[in-house]
Amino acid sequence: MRRRAVLRGPDAATIAGLEARLEAQAALIREQAASLSQSQKIFDRASAAARIGVWQCNLADQALQWTDVVYDLFDLPRDAPLDRAEIVKCYTPASAAELQAKRSKGIAERTGFGLDAEIVTAKGNRRWIRITASVECEDGVAVRIFGMKQDITEEKILADQTRYLAEYDVMTGLANRSRFQSKLAELTAVTSGQPALGALLLVDLDGFKQINDTFGHIAGDECLKDVARRLESACTGVDLVSRIGGDEFAVLAGPQLDLAAISELARDIIDSLGRQVDNGGRALKLGASIGIARYEDCTPSELLVRADTALYQAKAGGRNTFRIFKAPEAAGVRNPRAA
Ligand code: GH3
Ligand code: MG
Repeated sequence: MRRRAVLRGPDAATIAGLEARLEAQAALIREQAASLSQSQKIFDRASAAARIGVWQCNLADQALQWTDVVYDLFDLPRDAPLDRAEIVKCYTPASAAELQAKRSKGIAERTGFGLDAEIVTAKGNRRWIRITASVECEDGVAVRIFGMKQDITEEKILADQTRYLAEYDVMTGLANRSRFQSKLAELTAVTSGQPALGALLLVDLDGFKQINDTFGHIAGDECLKDVARRLESACTGVDLVSRIGGDEFAVLAGPQLDLAAISELARDIIDSLGRQVDNGGRALKLGASIGIARYEDCTPSELLVRADTALYQAKAGGRNTFRIFKAPEAAGVRNPRAA
């Protein structure tokens, strides 16, 4: 007679051994999780302390992860869903287009990308953020994109102010001498063998020292601001209006103005600047002389000398008038500043 096999369960010692091993593994997992969460906390704190948001996006399902700083950059509540669309709609249209183009190219070429982008946050604050992104590949396939986001608004404002100070005259808001010189070089450059067309008008106020001497420097400054506004409105459609010295302004007129139109512009400027200025309740009268040189075939510095010569001729010719540069021997008056 066959004996039936008796299935016996593990004995108590075996169960106890298994339990101990399971408990040890669970303890190890708890320890690793605690250490991971500790690392995560350190990482979050570092991100917050540096005020740099860290983010990553899984390219297969677009699942996102980011640190708290990213919520703060976009003024999103900390419990907002991690939704790329929510973030993308904060970018200005120009920045959104640039971001999209750079992101696609950076992923396709595995190079990542960098971008300074302008955003309007969920609370309506306008900010500039710097984004850097790297691409992680597995077996040659891009699987993840990750990087940093940082508020650079202050840096951007400072850079804009610095650029403004380098190129504009703070008192009048017109372009300064440096911007004038770059624009002059650009406009007079010979392109495709064709000399540039246009004209330079140097405008210098007549007897301006007298205003300073009689009414003081502050009154003089107010006059200069007024002159700048009048000059701008008399010069619509020109290439540049600038203040290049104390009471000296320069206008760069484009090729659309022929000799007759340039002369008319000069007369308009003289009329406009010759009208009375209301200077803190005082009615002051200014005047201006203008020297004009056409671009023709000369370097920017030669052009400046020519316009200055014509200005000198206008001053010598009685002021409150303009002259167009002619060869010095034909004009009969030498410019001592051109020597
Ligand atoms: P002219 O008719 O020959 O042009 O003589 P002017 O009296 O106008 O004097 P000029 O053009 O030779 O010199 C310009 C004067 O402008 C010199 C200086 O006293 C004054 N000036 C220069 N910069 C400023 C400024 O920023 N503010 C004020 N208020 N005056 C200035
Ligand atoms: Mg003057």
